[in-house]
Parts: sequence; C-alpha cells; structure tokens
Amino acid sequence: MTRYAAPGTEGALVSYESRYDHFIGGEYVPPAGGQYFENPSPVNGRPFTEIARGTAQDVERALDAAHAAAPAWGRTAPTERANILNKIADRMEARLEELAVAESWENGKPVRETLAADIPLAIDHFRYFAGALRAQEGSLSQLDDDTVAYHFHEPLGVVGQIIPWNFPILMAVWKLAPALAAGNAVVLKPAEQTPASVHVWLSMVADLIPPGVLNIVNGFGVEAGKPLASSPRVAKIAFTGETTTGRLIMQYASEKIRPVTLELGGKSPNIFFDDVWSADDDFRDKALEGFTMFALNQGEVCTCPSRALIQRGHYSEFLDAGIARTEAIVAGHPLDTDTMIGAQASNDQLQKILSYLDIGQQEGAKILTGGQRVEYDGELAGGYYVQPTIFEGDNRMRIFQEEIFGPVVAVTSFTDFDDAIRTANDTLYGLGAGVWTRDGNQAYRAGRAIQAGRVWTNCYHAYPAHAAFGGYKQSGIGRENHRMMLEHYQQTKNLLVSYSAKKL
Ligand code: NAD
Repeated sequence: MTRYAAPGTEGALVSYESRYDHFIGGEYVPPAGGQYFENPSPVNGRPFTEIARGTAQDVERALDAAHAAAPAWGRTAPTERANILNKIADRMEARLEELAVAESWENGKPVRETLAADIPLAIDHFRYFAGALRAQEGSLSQLDDDTVAYHFHEPLGVVGQIIPWNFPILMAVWKLAPALAAGNAVVLKPAEQTPASVHVWLSMVADLIPPGVLNIVNGFGVEAGKPLASSPRVAKIAFTGETTTGRLIMQYASEKIRPVTLELGGKSPNIFFDDVWSADDDFRDKALEGFTMFALNQGEVCTCPSRALIQRGHYSEFLDAGIARTEAIVAGHPLDTDTMIGAQASNDQLQKILSYLDIGQQEGAKILTGGQRVEYDGELAGGYYVQPTIFEGDNRMRIFQEEIFGPVVAVTSFTDFDDAIRTANDTLYGLGAGVWTRDGNQAYRAGRAIQAGRVWTNCYHAYPAHAAFGGYKQSGIGRENHRMMLEHYQQTKNLLVSYSAKKL
C-alpha cells in the first residue's frame, strides 16, 4: 500500500495555488466582480484553495478571446492540431501521478482509480482524437459527368462547454479533445465543486495551446453557466450534468437556435440471468464484481448500475454472494492505493444520499447492508463518507426511479426474459445497462431490447475512447467519444460545382 502525501503536507506531489483565476486569452484573469469562493476537499471538508466567481462579464471576455482566436485555429492543418493534442497527452503521461492525486484530493475518489482509469483514459482521449482527426476525410459525389458535390468538414467556430464534478479532468477532456481537434475555440466552465484539478491540468499544458483557443471561466451554474449557454456568440453548447439542468440548457439554446449535446442522468439496470450462477467460477466471480460496481467512484457515475435485476432461480444465492462482496469493499483514505471507496464529492451530495437512505426505508425497502454515513477521526474527520448500501425493493419505488448518485444499489428480482426487459426499461432514463449471461443469443436479444445508449455485456464501466457513449430517453441528446464526435463539432459544407459551359 502507498499513501500519497496530502496536498499542503510534507512530500506532497501537488501544491495548489492559493487562488485560481479565470483563464482567458492565454492569461490568468481575475474575476470582473472581484469575488472568489472557497473550494473544500471532500476528504476532510476543509477548504484548500479559492476560485474566481465568474459572471456574465467574464463569459463575454472569454468569448471575445475565443472569437479572436477561432479563425486562425480553424485554419491550422489537421497535422498541426493533432501534434498539439499528442503533446498534451505526453505531458499528462509524464505527470500522471500528480494529476491523479489532484483529482482524488478535490473529488474524494480513490487514487487507485485516478491512477489506473481517470487520467490514463483522459490521456488516451487526446491521442485517439489526434489520430481520428488525421484520418478524417471529406467526400465527393459525382452528380453527372460535369457536376460534382464536395463535402467539407468545417469547425463550428466558438463552442461553450459545461461539465459536472464527478470526473473533473476526464469530463473536461471528453469535451475538449474532439472540439479542439475539430478546429474550434472553446469556453469551458468547470463545476463549482471541482474546478481546481482542471486548473492543475491546465498549468501543465497551457503553453502548448495558442492563446484564446481554450478559455476557462469558473463559477456557479446560474451566474457563469447560464450566460455561456444563452449566449448568441456560441455556435454550440455541450453540457454534461443533471437532467433538470439539461432542460434549462435546451431552453437557453433554443432562443438563438443553437445546437446542444446533452449528457444527462441515468438509472442503469444491471441484469443477472440465472445461468450466471451455474457458470464457471471465474465468470460468476466477474459477474459479482460487476454487481459491486454500483460503488465504483462512490456511485457518482451517470451510468452507475444503480438497479440490480436478478433472476428468481438463483436470486438468494447470488444476492448473498453480492452482499459479501460489497462488504469486502475497502473503504478509507482516498490517497491510499488500497482504498476502493473514498469520499462523496461534496457535502450537498452526501446529504442527498443520506436523504435517499431515509426515503428508501420509508417506502418499505429493506437495507441488506450499509445504510450509514461513515465518520472517521483524525485526518479524515469532517469528510463526506457513506457505506456502500444494498436496498431490496420494488422497481416502482423512488430509490429505483430517481438518480441518487451515491454508492447505493436497489435490487429486485425478475421471472423471465420479458420481465427483465420490461423492468429494465421502466425508467425515464436510458444511459447505460449491464447484461450478464453465458447464453449469447439471450445476451444479444437483451442488448437490442434495452433502451439505453450503451449496454455492457458481461462487463461494466469500461469507457474506451472509440466506443460511442450517450443517452436514450431523458439521458440526453448526442454522443461523446468515438470519432463521430468530430462531426458533432463541425459543420458540413457542400460545394456543388458545375465544370461545364452548358447552360442550366
Ligand atoms: P448539474 O446539472 O447540477 O451541474 C452540471 C454543470 O452545470 C455545473 O458546471 C453547473 O455549474 C452547471 N449548471 C448548473 N445550473 C446551470 C444553469 N442553470 N445554466 C448553466 N449551467 C448550469 O449536475 P452535477 O450535479 O454537477 O452533475 C451530476 C449529474 O451529471 C448527474 O445527473 C449525472 O448523471 C450527470 N452526468 C452525466 C454524464 C453523462 O455522460 N451522461 C456524465 C457525468 C455526469
């Protein structure tokens, strides 16, 4: 086990600035309103830096810088942009541990995850879009002997991006890599709960990016996010966050007919068919690990498998093994490499989860394990910790229908294939799902029948850059990841050309 030193203590890999301003036009710029807000670490609830509190004036200034930079950036050769993206990835790789510690300290997630997943995935994202950009081609259609239709990809210009707090660096990179690759200038607003790790990342790579191409305005949703999403000066707004906020973003963007992509909430079903229990030990073990993934990232994942549907034939055996496996999840200091579950990202989020633990019990659901806040002494005192919790209940209950965004799974049983699909689809959401079975035919039919943008089959929580990710139903509009994202940040220009002197 390794314990990384906490920022601010001896031997720490990460030292934060005492305050972070906005980053506009290649420079750090104090907030127009002169105000800052405190940023606490969920590890101990204590503030560790201050953040500029952005307003409409700051957003306008960032948009000025982005508009000044966008035309030249959009005309750079794809090779040049790809080289910059690859250099960003190289810098991140060289300083992976620092980024991992910064991400854990600010978000509360275990460093085990940030070292192995969050930061490596972010690095790979830049490399993937560097390659995808180089491989992107336009098209040509021959309409007749003398007439040709060319299709070009053009950047949109200046785009606005708003991200949540659950994967601060990775969510920023999911948006930035394709947008910058496609030749756009960006104004990004990080979540008010987790802006500092994005600035730690920025401090490592800012000199690689021409001034004005990437601008960061910090601040709160209504004060800084709304002016960005409502601005007629953005050609597109890309948003990740709650479904209720997504509705507002669509309204703002509709005023000026701006396109939006929305990556929103989820209530993902994880379906375990009977044959999982009779399969070989390795597969059963993998499926049980898949069951416990509701606690990964403290359950603060939009695709959290927060509903487990277990077939009746082996319901009790599977659930008992799932409970034992959940109780073996190692909780503790997020900067210990052995820790599997750390702190919830904010006190608000902690309180929300605790309220759902009450709601579930009031509805008559039974807690099979967990159900309590964890209050540590010493270094972790004041942090936001919750036990991984398994509820048993019925799919119509609020804990099965509403996104808790914590390490809480609601379990129910099903009789047969149709019952499983009916229950899985009985939700407003459609982001992710899991299907576990050794029967390939059943796996295929379930995957096609579930209304969700991604169905993991005999696996869960894998996020490769080249697999499209996004929601059905109220989980969103559009996709992230995959080379198709380039086109989400581009216009299609058609030149229809006649090479003949013949009259029309
Ligand atoms: P949130 O909607 O409260 O906030 C997200 C971002 O929007 C923040 O930067 C916030 O400041 C900003 N914002 C809030 N109100 C705004 C407004 N009126 N105008 C403009 N911007 C505004 O969401 P959250 O609590 O930060 O994040 C958790 C949510 O994100 C969960 O619902 C989760 O499922 C979702 N999420 C989805 C995905 C996905 O890819 N589908 C990924 C991660 C998280």
